[in-house]
Amino acid sequence: MPEQKPEERIGNFDEVALGYTEQQAVIEAGRCLECKNPQCVAGCPVNIDIPGFVSRIKNKDFDRAIGILKESNALPAICGRVCPQEEQCEKFCILGKKGQPLAIGRLERFCADYERDAGVKSPEKPKSSGKNVAVIGAGPAGLTAAAELAKAGHGVTIYEALHEPGGVLTYGIPEFRLPKDIVRQEVDYIRNLGVDIKVDYVIGRIKTLDELRDEFDAVFVGTGAGLPRFMRIEGENLNGVYSANEFLTRVNLMKAYRFPDYDTPIKCGNKVVVVGAGNVAMDAARSALRLGAEEVTVVYRRSEAEMSARIEEVEHAKEEGVVFNLLTNPVRILEGENKTVTGVECVNMELGEPDESGRRRPIPIEGSEHVIDADIIIVAIGTSPNPVIFAGSEELETTSKGTIVVDEDAMSSLAGLCAGGDVVTGAATVISAMGAGKQAAATINRYIENRS
Ligand code: FAD
Repeated sequence: MPEQKPEERIGNFDEVALGYTEQQAVIEAGRCLECKNPQCVAGCPVNIDIPGFVSRIKNKDFDRAIGILKESNALPAICGRVCPQEEQCEKFCILGKKGQPLAIGRLERFCADYERDAGVKSPEKPKSSGKNVAVIGAGPAGLTAAAELAKAGHGVTIYEALHEPGGVLTYGIPEFRLPKDIVRQEVDYIRNLGVDIKVDYVIGRIKTLDELRDEFDAVFVGTGAGLPRFMRIEGENLNGVYSANEFLTRVNLMKAYRFPDYDTPIKCGNKVVVVGAGNVAMDAARSALRLGAEEVTVVYRRSEAEMSARIEEVEHAKEEGVVFNLLTNPVRILEGENKTVTGVECVNMELGEPDESGRRRPIPIEGSEHVIDADIIIVAIGTSPNPVIFAGSEELETTSKGTIVVDEDAMSSLAGLCAGGDVVTGAATVISAMGAGKQAAATINRYIENRS
C-alpha cells in the first residue's frame, strides 16, 4: 500500500498509509482463493463474511462489498486501519502458508474509504421495541453494542465521560494512524441509527450504575482501561515524566499537535525516552518525533520477539528514526534543576524461563547500570480500568486487577448489566472490544425478550 515517505511524514501528523487505489484493490481481491471453509472468518472476532466482501471487490461491486462489511462491523474504516490482522483473519489465510496472506485489512479499509468518497448512506431506522438501554463509554465496545442494540429497535443512550466519543480511537491513537474525521464519521453512522450520545457525563459521579439500572431496561458497561500504570521507581514524580495516556490525550484529544491553533501545553523536549513496547509506546514515540524531539528512544525490558506492538507500527517507528534499546530496564529517573528530568538509569536484562504470561522472564544483569540522557520520559507499561465507574455500585463483582467479572455471555453479577471490552479483559484490541460489545448486545436482547 502506498505510504508517505519517512523523511516527509516525521514533519507532519497526516496519515502515513495512503490506501489502495481501485485497481490495486481489485488485483489484491483477485488473489483470494475463495476457500470452501474459510479460516479467515473464524479468525475475526466479529465474524465478517470476508470471502463475501472480497469477491464483491473482485467484481467491482463496491457498494455491496461495504454493505456486507457493515452487516457485521459498524466501524470498518477504523478496523481496516488499526486491527492487528496479522494476528487475526490474515493469520489463518491459506495464502500465508506459502507467501503473503490476502491483505484483508487493507481491502476493508478500501471499501470504507470508497463509501466515504461516494457518500455514506444513512442506515434504515428499525421499528421501536419500546425498550431502553444505557451504554456507558463511547469506545469501540460501547459503540458496537449501541449499534447492535439500536438495530434491534431499542432506544439507546450512550454516556461518555470525555467531550468527544470514540474512546481510545479519539484520545489515544494519533491522527497519523487514524484520522479523527474517520472516527467522527463512523460515530455519526451510529448516531444515525438513532443512538443518543451524551458527552461530558461521568457515570459514578453524575449518576451511579444502580441508578441507570433502575432507569433503563438493561445496561452495558464499556468503560475501557484508561488508568495508567507507573513503574514505581525513584524520580517518577519529576517534571517531564508523563504517562503515555496523558501525553497522547494532550496531543490527540486536546490537539496539542495543532499549535498555535490550539494552545494545549505540551512539553516535548529534545531527548525523549519511552518505556514499553506496545502500540501505545509506538504511538507516543512517533508523536514525540513529530512534535520536534531530536532523539526518541524506546526502552523495553524484553527482546523484539516479545514486543506487543503491531509489526507494521514497529517498522514504521524504525523507519522514522526511533531508537530501540531492548533488554533494558529503567531503575531510577535522574533529577536536575527545578525537579526536572536529566536522564534515566537503566540496567541490562537477559531472558530466563517463561513466566505466567508465557513470555520469557527478564532478569537484571548485575553491574550493567548505565544512564540514558533524557529530558522527557513517557511511561507506556499498561493500564487498568478506572474505578470511578463502580462508585455507589459496590455489589458489582470485580477482579483483583479491577476488571469486571462477567460470564460467557458477558453478563455481570448484577442482573441486566453486561460489560465488555478492556474493562473486562484489561488493555486489549479494538476488534476484541467490538466483539465483546456485539456479544453483550445479543445477551441484552435475550434478557429484554425474556422479561417482556
Ligand atoms: P475505550 O476505547 O477505552 O473506551 C472507553 C470509553 O469509556 C472512553 O471513551 C472513556 O472516556 C469512557 N469512560 C470511562 N469511564 C467512564 C465513566 N465512568 N463514565 C462514562 N464514560 C466513561 N488496539 C488495536 O486493535 N490496534 C491498535 O493499533 C491499537 N493502538 C492503540 C494505541 C493506543 C495509544 C491505545 C491506548 C490503545 C490502542 N489499542 C489498539 C487498544 C484499543 O484501542 C483498546 O483495546 C480499545 O479501544 C478498547 O475499547 P473499549 O471500548 O473497551 O475502551
